[in-house]
Amino acid sequence: MLRFLIHYGIHFLVPIVIGLTFYKKNQLKVILILLAGIVIDIDHLWANPVFDPERCSIGFHPLHSYWAIGIYFLLLSFRKTRVYGLALIIHILADWADCSLLLQSK
Ligand SMILES: [Zn+2]
Repeated sequence: MLRFLIHYGIHFLVPIVIGLTFYKKNQLKVILILLAGIVIDIDHLWANPVFDPERCSIGFHPLHSYWAIGIYFLLLSFRKTRVYGLALIIHILADWADCSLLLQSK
């Protein structure tokens, strides 16, 4: 239950907090983009089973692989794509927190 709260807490609260704290302009737009970072979970649809609470997303799904994470950091380094990179990295952080909690509970 705690794991669930932390995972979805990062997915939904961190985008809102970052938007409110760091983006005074276009605040709503930024928050929506950051929240949209969750869409990369679409790669779970190619996995079998689609949802497995015992599985760690990072390094397993194509959009959660290490080279994908590298691209997200690349996006972060350009002004124009920064907010998108940030959205994706928040997503990876959320999943990563989820993974570490999963490993701890084993
Ligand atoms: Zn994910």
